[in-house]
Amino acid sequence: MYPIASHWLNYIDGQWSDSVQRLTVNNPGSAEPLATIAQATVADAEHAVQAARRCADSGELTRVRPAQRVTWLLRIAEEIRAVADEGAWVLCQENGKRLSDAKDEFIEAARYFEYYAGMADKIEGTSIPLGNGYMDFTLYDPMGVSAQIVPWNFPVSICARSLAPALAAGNAVVIKSPELSPLGMCVLIRAIANAGLPQGAVNLICGRGREVGSHLVSHRDVDQIVFTGSVPTGQSILRDAARHAIPGVMELGGKSAAIAFADADREQLLASVKSGIFFNAGQVCSAMSRLLVQREIYEEVVEAVVAMAEGLSIGTGQENADLTPVVSAGQLAGIEALCRRAIEEGAIAVTGGEAFADRAGHFMRPTVFRDVTPQMCIAQEEVFGPVLAIMSFDTEEEAIAIANGTEFGLVAGVFTQDISRAMRCTRRLKAGQVFVNEWYAGGIETPFGGVGLSGFGREKGQEALYSYVRTKNVAIRIAGE
Ligand code: NAD
Repeated sequence: MYPIASHWLNYIDGQWSDSVQRLTVNNPGSAEPLATIAQATVADAEHAVQAARRCADSGELTRVRPAQRVTWLLRIAEEIRAVADEGAWVLCQENGKRLSDAKDEFIEAARYFEYYAGMADKIEGTSIPLGNGYMDFTLYDPMGVSAQIVPWNFPVSICARSLAPALAAGNAVVIKSPELSPLGMCVLIRAIANAGLPQGAVNLICGRGREVGSHLVSHRDVDQIVFTGSVPTGQSILRDAARHAIPGVMELGGKSAAIAFADADREQLLASVKSGIFFNAGQVCSAMSRLLVQREIYEEVVEAVVAMAEGLSIGTGQENADLTPVVSAGQLAGIEALCRRAIEEGAIAVTGGEAFADRAGHFMRPTVFRDVTPQMCIAQEEVFGPVLAIMSFDTEEEAIAIANGTEFGLVAGVFTQDISRAMRCTRRLKAGQVFVNEWYAGGIETPFGGVGLSGFGREKGQEALYSYVRTKNVAIRIAGE
């Protein structure tokens, strides 16, 4: 256990600073207030953008040899590891997630910095042959000021996911933390502030999305937007960004499907369903929110999934329960409302379908719907909670059509022992990432991002680094050749 400060600050231009307004952060396990944080105003956001602008324009991040950025990033990773236990405690309290998962988030954050440290001195251009009389090559310039807007479900690891490659490429960054879960990110930034980066390279503000978030994304001095969050917010940001044609990476929501064929290994499948929809109380963009089961094994799988769901331990994050609370009363109300609509449309809640009435915190019952058809709301809309929609299919063709039949396309999964079938499905699934025989296989090294309403651009892996640079071509006429 670590003491949690009663009030937290923003980090702007190398200083921790308070604001005239405050936001209250609650503990979802008890629904009690946990702490307050300075609520950034538009003036604070402006201050942060100008600090990042000065840092980017000073060249302090780019005129050093790239090896210096490697050193900074490795130092950051060390500092993060040193605060991982304390940070995990804070994150678990403010967010409701399991303490062990909160610790994993900090370790994953450190890994992002180690991974991109390995690339910071390898951002190499190419030379392009144009025949005699010309020399042509490409350079990768940093974007400049990167504005990064983070959601509450994995605030620490998502923050590191964008910050590490941005710094590796030599950008200055303004981060906006989510109103519901900003404290763990303060611990993360405190660690980063110890690493000796130039002043203004990293700024953190916590404020209302519609106020300071939209100020950032329509700002002329911002060169890039990295947004992770919901589809409606992403669409609003794209409209704001259009004003100055600011490019960006959009990591949005999902309605991802796993396809379970009759020959699927049942143990692998069940373990994947458990983590796929109940990990982090289902508040995962790439959650397995739809399970498509071949008719021969449909009853057997429904029965096994329901038994697993009913056997989950329920409790707070610090109890490391299987199923933890959702982040807020508003989130819980939204999940329940969607469940009610699903029931009205004819889906059957075999288990769950409503919140626990007798618990103080925001606890949703683990929910399994059966007899879901592809057009029902529960098969089309993101729930962002521990709610699984199970559907049946007969043929591979039909399974692909159902899986691809939403406007989203974040991830998908195939469970089968037949490698040819797995490969056929993999090619045809509309998703940025396909898991075969294990949901959430992959890691920080594997590119991640969406298709359709799930967004565009890629985070994670080597490819993501190139989201944080601009290509410049240099074409030279050589006299005398
Ligand atoms: P949200 O869209 O409500 O908020 C995300 C962030 O955007 C917050 O920091 C918020 O303050 C800010 N914001 C809100 N309005 C804004 C505006 N007009 N301009 C600028 N910023 C604004 O999302 P959330 O509820 O925090 O997170 C859940 C959503 O995030 C889900 O849809 C989930 O699928 C998605 N998500 C996607 C990924 C991914 O990598 N694809 C990862 C995690 C979460």
